[in-house]
Amino acid sequence: MFNPNIAINDTALLRILALSKDATAVYNDVDLHITFANDAMIALWGKNRTVIGKRLADALPELEGQPFVEMLQTVWRTGKTIADSNVEAMLEVNGRLQSFYFDFEYRALINPQGNTYAILHTATNVTERFKAQERDRERERTEQELNEKLMASNEELMAVNEEYRILHEEQATVNEELYATNEELADTQTELLSANLKLLESQTRLRNVLEQAPLGMCVLRGPKHVIEIANEAILNIWGRARAEVMNIPHREARPELEGQPVFEWLDQVYRTGKRQVNREFKVWLRSGDGVREAIVNSIYEALKDSEGNINGVLIVLDDITEIVKERREATRVQEMFNIAIEAGELGAFYYNPHLNQFTGNETLKKWFGLGKDEYLDLQLAIDVIADEDRDRVGEAIAAALDPASGGGYDIEYTIIHPQTHAPRIVKAKGKAQFDTHGTALSLNGMLLDITERKQDEQRKNDFISMVSHELKTPITTLKGYLQLMDKRAKKLDDAFTTGALDKSLKQVTKMTSMINGFLNMSRLESGKIHIDKQLFDMADLVKEAEEESLASITSHQVVFAPVEPTLVTADRDKIGQVITNLINNAVKYSPQNSIINVACVTVNNVAMLSVQDQGIGIAQDNIDQLFDRFYRVESKDTKSIAGFGIGLYICKEIIDRHKGTIGVKSETGKGSTFYFTLPVEEK
Ligand code: ADP
Repeated sequence: MFNPNIAINDTALLRILALSKDATAVYNDVDLHITFANDAMIALWGKNRTVIGKRLADALPELEGQPFVEMLQTVWRTGKTIADSNVEAMLEVNGRLQSFYFDFEYRALINPQGNTYAILHTATNVTERFKAQERDRERERTEQELNEKLMASNEELMAVNEEYRILHEEQATVNEELYATNEELADTQTELLSANLKLLESQTRLRNVLEQAPLGMCVLRGPKHVIEIANEAILNIWGRARAEVMNIPHREARPELEGQPVFEWLDQVYRTGKRQVNREFKVWLRSGDGVREAIVNSIYEALKDSEGNINGVLIVLDDITEIVKERREATRVQEMFNIAIEAGELGAFYYNPHLNQFTGNETLKKWFGLGKDEYLDLQLAIDVIADEDRDRVGEAIAAALDPASGGGYDIEYTIIHPQTHAPRIVKAKGKAQFDTHGTALSLNGMLLDITERKQDEQRKNDFISMVSHELKTPITTLKGYLQLMDKRAKKLDDAFTTGALDKSLKQVTKMTSMINGFLNMSRLESGKIHIDKQLFDMADLVKEAEEESLASITSHQVVFAPVEPTLVTADRDKIGQVITNLINNAVKYSPQNSIINVACVTVNNVAMLSVQDQGIGIAQDNIDQLFDRFYRVESKDTKSIAGFGIGLYICKEIIDRHKGTIGVKSETGKGSTFYFTLPVEEK
């Protein structure tokens, strides 16, 4: 660095500077004539040695407009050094104006008088360094910028994510609510949902929710109610395709509503902002090319902008046509049912086993001695049952409430009026309902007063019993006389009389068995039949039946299979009656000369006696009733065959009382096999 205090003459100094690698120039007046410039400075300027002696401004005309000349002159005048680094200068090098960067120093050389006599200008071209630094700085800057941007977008992303998550959650909640609400009653549902929707401010959210909602929803904008949003559900209810209605004023999109109050209601909601709720409203909606009558629940809710001005209407619509129709139908059926119950004078009962609650209709209360508004409880229902029937009823109820039973309840019993003590015979028929776990929920049913019918039956029974009884004596006498006459005729060898008496005796036997049948029946009915059990061998009984049939049946071939000894404990006479009855039926209902097979076999300690014929057979439909009292199959084949339909009834009663089973396998036109079973005594 130049030190003015060191005594060195200018020429020597210039010689040193000429050798310096640092670009150096010296100006010796205020006009900045270049007294000296070393090669480095000349190269830096992009000029040649002709610049020496010229004014700086002339030698480097490109400096015009740049601050350097002025800065040098300031240094000259003030004597104060100016130094700076990385300063840009525009220089014409190789005929091109280019930008360079320099570290420089303008130093005034001062004489002892304190005046500037020269300026020493040193400069280093730092363009490359500067550009490298600049590049670094630029890179740093862009990196930072990028970083910042990245961070910002990251944050934004996170925020978006968060928003999305919240949105998602809210939507899920709203969805859940929607579905839950849907299950509630149709009208409250609509209202609730609309309230939920009100909470949703964002248009997107609203749109999403609307789209997914199970209820019909739409948003109408502006005073003309332009359809802005409409979900699938509402389009379905409207009977319109999306393209038909979107962005179209509601009134134009749905002309079928003309003359119905909807348009007016919408205008009103838009005007007043007051929500309109319509329950079970009848409206004509488009359906295919025509219209249909629909029943809907609907809510019109005004939509407001941020300033509270009404700018649209939200419609929530639920088509409840089917539900209402079903409900009306159910009500109608219930009414019909109630009329039928009343007309039929039926007592209806409802029992809830959980709560042990029992209740009934007016008729039932009347039978139980209660007024129609009086409370009927289970205890009373139990108390009115006749003592002898109470346990039986209890058992039947318990059985019905057992899921294994199928829930059926069918029983006849007597109830006694608590005040008048008048008996009333009732037939109760009901059904228990179970939940999916098999727990009984209820036992409901009807009580029919069968007192009259029972009394009629009793009277009929009494009559039959009396007549049969009265007929028995004369017929026995008649039979006795016929037998006497027969003996005598045989002695006299009177062939005609013997034949006639034989036939008469057969008819008398038939009459006797018929009368016995009636007597048996009336005894059964009045519970007077007596089962007299004894141990006997079925083989013997079948043998007797065989002998009897050989003597009395000539029209058919009755074939008896051999029977193993089969010991049973039963009423021998009555079982004999059953066998005879089945054989006689086989004869009655099968063609002459056909074969009838009788067999008795034992399997698993159960003896089964069967009578097989090749007769008319029985249609499947009739088999169930065959063993009912007075039941006879009505067909052209049976028309000419006499009978009362009590034989099989008596057989069944007898077998039932022996804890056996009785049944038939049959095919029309091919024949029947009647059978009964009895438990066999272990040997
Ligand atoms: P009845 O023979 O007096 O009519 P039953 O009680 O003995 O009364 O029989 C009831 C009905 O069952 C008969 O009317 C008849 O239609 C049918 N039935 C009974 N046995 C036979 C049989 N072996 N083949 C065809 N039908 C029969």
